Amino acid sequence: MSIVLLGLGCNSKQADTENFNYKVDRFADVEIIRYQVPGFEYLSLRQKKLVYYLSEAALWGRDIIYDQNYRHNLLIRQCLEAIYQHAGISRQGEDWQAFEIYLKRLWVANGIHHHYSSDKFAPGFSKEFIVKALKAVPADKLPCLPLGQQTPDQNQAQTPEHTESQAQLASQNKQLADELAARLLPLLFDAGLDAKRVNQAQGEDLVLSSACNFYRDVTQKEAEAFYEALNNPDDTSPVSYGLNSRLVKEEGQLREKIWKIGGLYSTALENIVHWLELAKEVAENDRQKDIIQSLIDYYHSGDLKTFDQYSILWVQDLQSQVDFVNGFIESYGDPLGIKGSWEAIVNFKNEEASKRTQIISDNAQWFEDHAPINDAFRKKQVKGVSAKVITNAIMAGDAYPTTAIGINLPNANWIRRDYGSKSVTIENITEAYFKSSQGSGFNEEFMWSNAEIEASARYGFVTGNLHTDLHECLGHGSGQLLPGVDPNALRSYGSVMEEARADLFALYFLADPKLVELGLVPDAEAYKAEYYEYMMNGLLSQLTRIEPGGQIEESHMRNRALIARWLLDRGSRDKVMELKKRHNKTYLLINDYEALRQLTGQLLAEVQRIKSEGDYPAAQTMVENYAVQVDPQLHQEILDRYAKLNLSPYKGFVNPIYKPVYNNNNEIVDITVHYDENYVEQHLRYSKDYAALPLEN
Ligand code: ZN
Repeated sequence: MSIVLLGLGCNSKQADTENFNYKVDRFADVEIIRYQVPGFEYLSLRQKKLVYYLSEAALWGRDIIYDQNYRHNLLIRQCLEAIYQHAGISRQGEDWQAFEIYLKRLWVANGIHHHYSSDKFAPGFSKEFIVKALKAVPADKLPCLPLGQQTPDQNQAQTPEHTESQAQLASQNKQLADELAARLLPLLFDAGLDAKRVNQAQGEDLVLSSACNFYRDVTQKEAEAFYEALNNPDDTSPVSYGLNSRLVKEEGQLREKIWKIGGLYSTALENIVHWLELAKEVAENDRQKDIIQSLIDYYHSGDLKTFDQYSILWVQDLQSQVDFVNGFIESYGDPLGIKGSWEAIVNFKNEEASKRTQIISDNAQWFEDHAPINDAFRKKQVKGVSAKVITNAIMAGDAYPTTAIGINLPNANWIRRDYGSKSVTIENITEAYFKSSQGSGFNEEFMWSNAEIEASARYGFVTGNLHTDLHECLGHGSGQLLPGVDPNALRSYGSVMEEARADLFALYFLADPKLVELGLVPDAEAYKAEYYEYMMNGLLSQLTRIEPGGQIEESHMRNRALIARWLLDRGSRDKVMELKKRHNKTYLLINDYEALRQLTGQLLAEVQRIKSEGDYPAAQTMVENYAVQVDPQLHQEILDRYAKLNLSPYKGFVNPIYKPVYNNNNEIVDITVHYDENYVEQHLRYSKDYAALPLEN
């Protein structure tokens, strides 16, 4: 429900005065960059330990997201990493290069489906290459197939009385390699098999046609009926049914397999809890200690009521400087928006920059009162909008290596209603984005004139961050459902509509004179930079992220298209904004920013109505009409223009390394932060040090 992903077009013109090397690696459609953790050295030793223990707790969940994304991801990853590290074959030639890129992409996506489009990757190497490479890996470096999948001969070869000769070992090796190849080839090469991780195509069975590992042998109808039956409209504080489980059909019966210690993903969760126990001992205060303990309890019991208690404690903790997310949180990975993908981040507050979000949250009621929405959908009293700017210390699970620039949690509607939500802008990440994309030529290619380019250079960083602040801090927390409306009434359109609502709230108020009055923007012109970049992205430049022939599928991209195209549609008659051709290139021209702001308010009113009333047909019509289709001709033009710039549409990150420093008594006396690991090293290390799950779960 609630992360903000960076759009395209960030292009800060600020001079890079530091020598920090942001650029790490580049392949396919991704650039890998590094982020700094400024201020870590000023934390107390206790806080540093807390960050370190929570970071370990974060990294131990890595295997979970691979398995959630696709049931065969762990097997595939282990086979490919074994080849990469141990195959006695040539590391030259096209096959090897394509193989290396494939593995790097797999790490970006936490699996074999693209992290954004969710399409399965097409391997650029041959089947013969994989077969040969597997055979060239020593048997003890290959992943062992789960019991029951081995051939009878292999089991026989492991009996104690059997004496193994060289020849027998070699034959065993070959047999295992053959076995693995037989499993791997269709998974990698059959383009039609599990082609999409999350299928959102209207009219298909979204559950059966999605490769994600949240349902087994269950149809969309069955899954929807199962969770519909649990929904009690009279319950004003319902748990998030289905959030932490896989729904399976066994012997004709639907049942949930819970992700908990003693249930699914147990070994990973045990390791996470081990580090949470250590973190608890160095918590900053008693409340934070209780928060960590309640998370531990939840991982033990799998009880969603405990998770709600944890969330309530967590959202109320405004004192601690160090903070974290660790759990089954966002539901974008499930076509039905029910199941939580595992993610973790650890962060600490950036006190100086948080003054900005403090001003916003201090004025939360003013914004709510002045939102251009029907009074019935307005919150009479905005509760506990807490916002801060944070410095990310580690990212893991679904939040790594691609990540959000803002977070607003918890997701449970009734907790947000009764206790508010915690909202953050992650400024060391936005900074890494900006610094690494300087001088890319992007704005020069896609913006109409120098006026827009200069406005972006002058105001872009400030208004971009403010957009995130407003989206997270106020947008998601604003408005209310009418009594009795099912929070999931919009079903598969829920995420898009929620993101649109938060973005519209941000856009509408960015242009409000109140922001000048509060000193948040330098002048009354500043918002225009963000308006232009946002609309240009939604109409034109975000199409660079879609393969030719594709549609818009990802929630945030749909949301941006929805807003920009609806506004273009309504604004075209009076030429508020228009698309114009120049030298056969399409540009956006905004002629009347004030009128555009009014239209933004109208759309916000309608999106809020749809959410508040749970008007599914209206959500469906709006999303299908504005947010999905791509004009193939325009798409090709944008792709061609973008290709000439030679840029990567996606960014991923490497994490820093935290190393404890010990004294002679084996006590930690300091934690140091290091930035010297490259992308491949990081993933191979994670696979070795944080291997938590069996191949099949
Ligand atoms: Zn959001």
